[in-house]
Amino acid sequence: MIYAANFKTNHTRQSTREYLAKLQIQLMSKKNSGDKVYVFPPLTALDDYNSADFTVGVQNAYPVESGAYTGEVGLEQLAEFNINTILIGHSERRDILNESQDEVAKKFAFFKEHNFEIIYCIGESLAIREQGIEAVMEHLISQFEGIDTSYDNFVIAYEPIWAIGTGRVASVEEITETHNALKKIVNKPLLYGGSVKGANITNISAIKNVDGVLVGGASLKPETFLELVLH
Ligand code: PEP
Repeated sequence: MIYAANFKTNHTRQSTREYLAKLQIQLMSKKNSGDKVYVFPPLTALDDYNSADFTVGVQNAYPVESGAYTGEVGLEQLAEFNINTILIGHSERRDILNESQDEVAKKFAFFKEHNFEIIYCIGESLAIREQGIEAVMEHLISQFEGIDTSYDNFVIAYEPIWAIGTGRVASVEEITETHNALKKIVNKPLLYGGSVKGANITNISAIKNVDGVLVGGASLKPETFLELVLH
């Protein structure tokens, strides 16, 4: 299983360091050898954490090496911290920051070219979910536009927007149906994200085509994230 923690705009450099130190101690002795753990802290918390037990990635970056892009962070800045893992296409970036599919695809192409491991997020709104699975799949497929789904270093995160940070988790049936349909289209590791927590990890991780989870709220404390990783 893959366990990915997305801190979003939470945690400081200091609290991230403390968090990762706690994570390291527990993972070293208790993590299943087949599991992979990722942490996506805010950019200001980056450092060369260099652990064999977890990978630190970024929630976003600009698809350039360096240059005149005020306020953005490019490859040169990530390389300083040995970062080669990135989240692309998160619904908060698509919806709040108005990232278009075209921009998302450009980011994907750039970081693919630099051999990054890409965790690529897709997900539908509640209005689309209420129209049924065909509408959901049509939307999800549209989020692969311009994306080279044959890229090797590529993990997909299915995150229904209506389940992110809402406490409303998708049902086992909804996850099963959507993940089965997605796997037929793109056979890559497939994470579920949306209000995953200690109370539902056993049911969610038991679903056949769930290869891991992307976690927001329940990843903010090392104790609650570890509850998932070590369940
Ligand atoms: C997320 O934002 O990727 C997410 C899944 O958040 P939460 O776990 O809080 O729903």
